[in-house]
Amino acid sequence: MKLLEGKNVIITGASRGIGSGIAKVFAEHGANIAFTYSSSEGPALELQEELIKKGARAKAYKSNAASFEASEQLVAQVLEDFGGIDVLINNAGITKDNLLMRMGEADFDTVIEINLKSVFNMTKAVQRTLLKQRNGAIINMSSVVGVKGNAGQANYAASKAGMIGFTKSVALELGSRNIRCNAIAPGFIETEMTDKLDDKVVQGWRDGIPLKRGGSPEDVANACLFLASDLSAYVTGQVLNVDGGMLT
Ligand code: NAP
Repeated sequence: MKLLEGKNVIITGASRGIGSGIAKVFAEHGANIAFTYSSSEGPALELQEELIKKGARAKAYKSNAASFEASEQLVAQVLEDFGGIDVLINNAGITKDNLLMRMGEADFDTVIEINLKSVFNMTKAVQRTLLKQRNGAIINMSSVVGVKGNAGQANYAASKAGMIGFTKSVALELGSRNIRCNAIAPGFIETEMTDKLDDKVVQGWRDGIPLKRGGSPEDVANACLFLASDLSAYVTGQVLNVDGGMLT
């Protein structure tokens, strides 16, 4: 059964990793995919081709999610190209890890702007469309680190915890218009973001996971599929941990 037949979806940061995994799973479920990237044009165009080959309507857009103006322009362009928006997935994110002692102001500001301010930018930009149609789903890609904290990631943890507060507030504000807003808190998902970690740290993460493995982008994409589709029609304001039991 295709769960997103004909639905128009925007995914930020889908040129690789989790976002790319979501785009592929959603395309297989009949969605039309508008997705963004920051600088990886080659991989973004390859993904666009792959999605089209799967039979989806798909288009890659270079757009900085941290910019309010660029986010407004992006949404206007997607509305023109696709004719509507049903689902927004705020997935774009970065890390700039350091102990607080060594963390510079720019490292804090950049992570907050790309990970958290972007969620405000994009949600504001799609809000009017979703309100008018009295239907929509917003999914924010938080992290277990936003729930629990992590040494060396004060900036990232603050951004991801902020996303959870934002998610719950938007769920309360927009619920009466049948717009649902949920967050996903992935644990250790093996992507380029985690490739940067050293082997000892990675082994430490794996040892602490009850399912004894890192997650894949598809593991997160399947949770997203649930939250984007009518299977979760009565679920809003929640944080779904996709972490192999890490926070249990
Ligand atoms: P990734 O492999 O590093 O991919 C990040 C994506 O975000 C790329 O497509 C990148 O585009 C895009 N991006 C970066 N800055 C952007 C900007 N300013 N505007 C638009 N797009 C931008 O990361 P990932 O591991 O897939 O993570 C995806 C999300 O899941 C992030 O929010 C991350 O915090 C969250 N998460 C990941 C894990 C994990 O273990 N991997 C765990 C918990 C949460 P370019 O390719 O053009 O740079």
